[in-house]
Amino acid sequence: MKVQVIGTGSMWTKCNSASYLIDNDIMIDFPNGACKYLYRNNINPSSIDYILLTHFHGDHYFDIPFYILNKSKSDNKNINIFCSKEGRGKINKIGNLAFPNSFKDASRETNIKYEFNNNFKIKDYEISKLLVDHGRMKPAYGYIFKDNDKYIGFTGDTSLCSNVEYMASKCNYLFCDCMFVKGTSKHMGIDNLEYLSSKYSSCIFVVSHLEDETREILNKKNIKNIIVPDDYYVLEV
Ligand SMILES: [Zn+2]
Ligand SMILES: [Zn+2]
Repeated sequence: MKVQVIGTGSMWTKCNSASYLIDNDIMIDFPNGACKYLYRNNINPSSIDYILLTHFHGDHYFDIPFYILNKSKSDNKNINIFCSKEGRGKINKIGNLAFPNSFKDASRETNIKYEFNNNFKIKDYEISKLLVDHGRMKPAYGYIFKDNDKYIGFTGDTSLCSNVEYMASKCNYLFCDCMFVKGTSKHMGIDNLEYLSSKYSSCIFVVSHLEDETREILNKKNIKNIIVPDDYYVLEV
C-alpha cells in the first residue's frame, strides 16, 4: 500500500487540510481545497474512485461538489463514497448550494454509490469503520485497512478514546490527529501521542491536522516512532 499524506495542517495554517491518498485512487476525507491539492501534485481528481469520510466538518468534505462536477466531465464516472448514513443528504445540500443547476446534472451523469456499512472491501483491502470521539460532532469515524498481514489505521479527528487505543494496539501504522500541544475533548495533542507511542511501541504514528506550534514542538522532540510529515509525504507500507 502506498499512502500519501495530502494534507497535514489544521484549518488555521498554510498547510493543506488533513487528508490521505491511498494507491492513487482512494482518498480518506475530501477537505476544502482537495481538488486543488491534488492538481498541485499532478493528480486529476477524476482519477479518485473511492472516498472514505471520517465526519462532516467542512475541512473534511467541502470539496466533494467540485469532485462530482469534475467526474461528470471525465470518462471515468465511478464514485464510491463511504460514510455515515446522513452523508448523502449533506453532500447533496452543499452540492446544490455550490452549483444550483449543474450539480443535479452532474449527479445524474455520474455513477454515485454510497456505502454505510461498518465493514467493507475495496479491492483487496478489508476495511473496518470504528467510532471515535470528536466532541459534539457525532458520529465521527476512524478506519482500519487490512493489507495482507499489515494493519494501517486512520483515526480522523478525535480525542484520545478507547477505539484510538484499540487502533494503536492493532496497527503497524496509525495516521492520527494531533492538532494541539495538549489534547482536548475534540482533538488529540502531543501529551496523548507521547502516551500512545510509548505504550504501543511497535506502532508507527504519523501525525496530521497539526497547528504550527504543535508541529514545531513535535519536530524538536524527535520521538522514535512518531513521523511528522510535510504535505505530500509518501509512505510505502
Ligand atoms: Zn472535525
Ligand atoms: Zn478537522
